[in-house]
Amino acid sequence: MAAGHQLVGPRSGIGMTSQRTRDRLIERLRKEGIRNETVLSVMRTTPRHLFMDEAMASRAYEDIALPIGYSQTISQPFVVARMTELLLAADIDGGVKKLLEVGTGSGYQAAILSQLVGEVFSVDRIEPLINQARQRFFDLKYNNIRLKHADGNWGWPEKGPYDGIMVTAAAPHVPQSLLDQLVIGARLVIPVGESDLQQLMVLTRTQEGFDTDLHEYVSFVPLLAGTH
Ligand code: SAH
Repeated sequence: MAAGHQLVGPRSGIGMTSQRTRDRLIERLRKEGIRNETVLSVMRTTPRHLFMDEAMASRAYEDIALPIGYSQTISQPFVVARMTELLLAADIDGGVKKLLEVGTGSGYQAAILSQLVGEVFSVDRIEPLINQARQRFFDLKYNNIRLKHADGNWGWPEKGPYDGIMVTAAAPHVPQSLLDQLVIGARLVIPVGESDLQQLMVLTRTQEGFDTDLHEYVSFVPLLAGTH
């Protein structure tokens, strides 16, 4: 579990990043149907404005995706909350403890997950984003997240299997390697589709194979092949 965050100096969260502004976002997520109060309470205290460029920080607690450079985005808070609650709802003996994220981006989603489970592994194909996220986790004392610069289509098999895998980029199809890295009962949460709009798919590993459920429509940047 990550330690509390000391917010001092010019980025202490005055005005548009104040606790009041953050509370309004949480209230909105609750109204829009997020039910997991533990997820909401972690999102309430996680400084999303520190996962983006300072020029963007005044919009950090609006329910929108924002640019983080390299043509990538930090996901919309509602989508972060929804995907997190879907991932954690898995029925696993001993609980959900070890997760993999594909698409580290800003590191915000990984930071949320790291406060809800024991260990988070996350990969991104863009090296500067990995380096930036690593520095953020160090500064903010999220010390149970391991990062790797890699093509996440292959997962991170050496560290698996996982109690859940979340893909935060739009996949044209579900990568078989990711399914292979789930324990029984674990879920893969992944936006599937090729156009601007994808559907959130939840695949749950069973003794016999996989159960599939479809959820909200979402809009993610594409899951690409290879590293950059
Ligand atoms: N979860 C992020 C948002 C991710 S944006 C956050 O909280 O900020 C999508 C990310 O997926 C981008 O950083 C992009 O580089 C990454 N990505 C796209 N294809 C990938 C692949 N094949 N393997 C790993 N990362 C990938």
